[in-house]
Amino acid sequence: MSGAPLIARLGEVVGAEHVLTDPELHEQYTIDWTRRYRGEALVVVRPGSPGEVAAVMTACADAGVAVVAQGGNTGLVAGSVPDAGSVVVSLRRLTAVGPFDPVAGQLTVEAGVTLARVAEEVRGSGWEFGVDLGARETATIGGMIATNAGGVRVVRHGSMCSNVLGVEAVLADGRVVSRLGGLVKDNTGYDLTGLLCGSEGTLGIVTRARLRLVPEPPERFVVWIACESWGDAVAVASRARRHLDGVDGLEAVDGAGLALTESALGLAPVFPDPPPVGLLVAWAGSGIPEADVAELVAGRRSVAAIDDRERARLWAPRERQAEAIARLGVPHKLDVTVPLAGLAAFTDAVRTLTEPSALFLFGHLGDGNLHVNVVGPDPDDVTIDEAVLELVAAYGGSVSAEHGIGRAKRRWLHLSRSAEERALFGAIKAAFDPRGLLNPGVLLDPVG
Ligand code: FAD
Repeated sequence: MSGAPLIARLGEVVGAEHVLTDPELHEQYTIDWTRRYRGEALVVVRPGSPGEVAAVMTACADAGVAVVAQGGNTGLVAGSVPDAGSVVVSLRRLTAVGPFDPVAGQLTVEAGVTLARVAEEVRGSGWEFGVDLGARETATIGGMIATNAGGVRVVRHGSMCSNVLGVEAVLADGRVVSRLGGLVKDNTGYDLTGLLCGSEGTLGIVTRARLRLVPEPPERFVVWIACESWGDAVAVASRARRHLDGVDGLEAVDGAGLALTESALGLAPVFPDPPPVGLLVAWAGSGIPEADVAELVAGRRSVAAIDDRERARLWAPRERQAEAIARLGVPHKLDVTVPLAGLAAFTDAVRTLTEPSALFLFGHLGDGNLHVNVVGPDPDDVTIDEAVLELVAAYGGSVSAEHGIGRAKRRWLHLSRSAEERALFGAIKAAFDPRGLLNPGVLLDPVG
């Protein structure tokens, strides 16, 4: 069964109004956030419950049609961009929240719930979610699990995998597996939640998740510190981790990026004259360690804020980097990690690969995670992507820190994963999805 019969069956499952066949309605589902990657879908289907997701998957499996799970479509490696002929399953209507366990600090949500909604739901409870990132209004919990999202608090709370206690997922043949009991310790075999986390929609469609919350700190502050170079920023960040109890984020932006948020977005400058690198230190806890902070910033230009509004103002030049760069054109965005010991040398080396005015570097410095952004080259020309990723490998880094591999980086997976590891990936994929129906072309070569 394919084409019209499948579309009719999907309409019976979710209601015809949630089966989008008109290509004009597909744009928000088939073009990625950067506008660099574009795809085509046979149809976009919007189930309204986990049960409907299972029925949709069963129908697609019966028809032998590939499925691309999609949340907020904010992923930056074309993982949610469909190949022609596949069905996009949008999870955005799966928005139920609960139950909330205030004793254990756990919240169960459906996959389409956004990160911002999770924060709203637990506000005032004494708990909060330990993962945060700039796309919080649109990125969904399902997408964040599928990409093992990182963000601005990894240095303290780890990536998404560390903050998810269990998931429910629909498998390639429509069966459902569920681990939502919330047990912190459960050594009863393979960690299926861990396998699904970071699997980019290739092993199953996440429909629900049980999130591990962290205690909400009573106080917060942020401080921008002017640094002379990337090496200087790495050294200050390392000192902050050792001497400031309660570091909640260590973010860095180069001077060009700081200037760009002013010229492209009209944001008030953090520093009237941007330094080579700005380091943003976020702190959360009880009793601001003023003497330690004073010692950290001694002899340097710095700008600090405590109250919510001022903190948000200081976060904006970091959080809106991607938006500012996008104003210059369709960027080549390369999310990578390099060992901290080699990070400064890596930034020097990457500068030799392109025009200085085309390069913007920022990222989660505490994790050695840089976002290398190059504007100018044609979106389809991957010469610069390849050069940067080969350099990353030469420095002992990873070609993806937190965005995943998607379709965009599949051809460079070998730079970070050995042939033995990739063979094992293939075997795991075959065990979950022998017909290769789930997100073919993402992470691994399509089956067949
Ligand atoms: P989508 O883009 O819809 O999908 C991403 C991948 O997950 C695809 O492979 C898709 O098939 C799969 N998928 C989606 N939903 C499901 C599901 N329910 N089940 C199975 N597979 C699924 N990322 C970070 O890690 N850290 C950051 O700091 C960060 N900052 C960002 C800032 C901006 C401005 C933007 C635009 C993006 C940023 N991202 C960041 C990238 C992005 O927000 C994350 O990758 C996020 O996890 C994607 O969630 P999504 O719901 O948009 O997923």
